[in-house]
Amino acid sequence: MPCPYKHQLPDYLEEKLSPEKMKKMEEHIDLCDDCQQKLDELLDHPLKLQQQTIEISDEILVEKIKAHRKGIRRIYAYGFLGFLLGLFSLKYTSDSFIVTKAIMALPYKLAEFMLGIFFSRYKLNQWDPMYSHFQRGMGYFPYNPILGLIVELVTPALVAMFLAMAVGYLTSDKRVFQRKRILRFILSATMIFALWFGAIYGVYNNTLTKIENLEGIKSAIIYEKQEFSTSWIVKIDQYNLHEARYNNIISGLSEATSLDSYPAMNLKEGLELLIQFQGGGQVIAHVDTDTGTMFMGSRHFHQLSDDTLSHLIEVSGGIK
Ligand SMILES: [Zn+2]
Repeated sequence: MPCPYKHQLPDYLEEKLSPEKMKKMEEHIDLCDDCQQKLDELLDHPLKLQQQTIEISDEILVEKIKAHRKGIRRIYAYGFLGFLLGLFSLKYTSDSFIVTKAIMALPYKLAEFMLGIFFSRYKLNQWDPMYSHFQRGMGYFPYNPILGLIVELVTPALVAMFLAMAVGYLTSDKRVFQRKRILRFILSATMIFALWFGAIYGVYNNTLTKIENLEGIKSAIIYEKQEFSTSWIVKIDQYNLHEARYNNIISGLSEATSLDSYPAMNLKEGLELLIQFQGGGQVIAHVDTDTGTMFMGSRHFHQLSDDTLSHLIEVSGGIK
């Protein structure tokens, strides 16, 4: 059954009703989906009003349609500016003026909080070999710094965009933007965040799986590690991967077998590898050159084949 108030909408828009009825209408529209939708339609398509034998030249109505459109443009403009401002939120720590610093920090801190609800379990422990190298920013995606950077840029920008749009709604003319509209806006903002967080989750778990299975290794940097120093030996990437001794190392790493138990290994000395994966993943692996055991991140242990170990030792200048 159509809402009995619906036919009064055109008169309401033109302010032809008595003040009492105007107020009643306003209250009703806030609660009624039907009328809200009809009102939006009337404001969006003034031609429909003509069909209903209402003079489009009516000044109040024209003004209202204009205000509605201007309001919509303003909200989108706010959203756009908010998004741009939010992109620079990452830089808030370097802003020395306290007021702008606080404004810049807000989207970043909110984004950090929201991301933390879902992703704080990915943060590194202090004893993780990755910690000293990759603990920066929010620190939720240490094994994929490219993803981390994108997330830390885009999430505060989305937060700032929605905050700015919310301000746009709340400061709009009440008659052209009913409360229902704000609810719908909050709902779509929530959905966009759900999609965004879902995408982040998917990409990061893909990275973790690749690392766990040593799958899609793109390059590796080999360091020699001694008790108090680490020195760079060689970087294996697309420029020298065609050389057999380097190719053997990369394929040998991919074929390392996963160990279930925690093996005793020398973590102070040996080789340290920064292994990089397709899709932006990276991990630091420590190789015990006596046993060929490889320790990756805080969770995974692998056993290198004797061949791979001797290739590694060979390119490292016979380190033992
Ligand atoms: Zn109604």
